[in-house]
Amino acid sequence: MNSLTSRPYILAECHWREVRDSGYALAVLPWGACEAHNYHLPYGTDIIEADAIAAESARLAWNKGAKVIVLPTIPFGVNTGQFDVTLDINMNPSTQMSILRDTIDVLNRQGIFKLVILNSHGGNDFRAMIRELGLQFPKMFLSSCNWFQALDQKRYFENKDDHAGEMETSLLLYLKPGLVRPLAEAGDGSAKKFRFGAIQEGWAWAERKWMQVTKDTGVGDPRKASAEKGERYFHAVTEKVGNFLFEVAQADQGDLYV
Ligand SMILES: [Zn+2]
Repeated sequence: MNSLTSRPYILAECHWREVRDSGYALAVLPWGACEAHNYHLPYGTDIIEADAIAAESARLAWNKGAKVIVLPTIPFGVNTGQFDVTLDINMNPSTQMSILRDTIDVLNRQGIFKLVILNSHGGNDFRAMIRELGLQFPKMFLSSCNWFQALDQKRYFENKDDHAGEMETSLLLYLKPGLVRPLAEAGDGSAKKFRFGAIQEGWAWAERKWMQVTKDTGVGDPRKASAEKGERYFHAVTEKVGNFLFEVAQADQGDLYV
């Protein structure tokens, strides 16, 4: 195929003739959120991460021969717990379900039977939606992945990051340094935990009312972040996600289990 763009796996940069004739095997839907990230990272942090990780992962998969196409990133995520943070734009799970159903309807009708949602935001959870939509679209292979869980953060960072901490700050220092305020302005990202042992142990769950947990909106200390750490982590994450995209794109849908 004669590509008109240098990134023929990014739908927003492609043109109709090449898209019409490409025969994609796999669509990737990056999904972010628009929310405060401590005092030093921009509201679009999850969107920037989703864009960059999707693009690089898809590039790696494409270069190995996988026909993947990255759809535009959905910019709003579930922010029900951040209801009182200025301009954190909440998109309810039921709205996400509608967007997902409409998107899958297009893919299914046009014979692109694989979709991976590349999730960039902890409040988004697509698993229940995928179960329900899988019944409605039985030809589709539907998957979601959380890139931020793909690697053991301890191998890359000193302090655990839940939100706007060392991992995200390092990534942004590498990807968009001009949008990061000086680290001296950042809060320490200290956060309270639920008082219930069951929730601390991880087998019970309740939503955190964000501003009762953290003062600066961050959860995780960002102050040891660096662009070098971000670069190393970015390449490791995209290699892993890229491998997953390649494997899914190449897989025979009648033979998914070993
Ligand atoms: Zn984030």
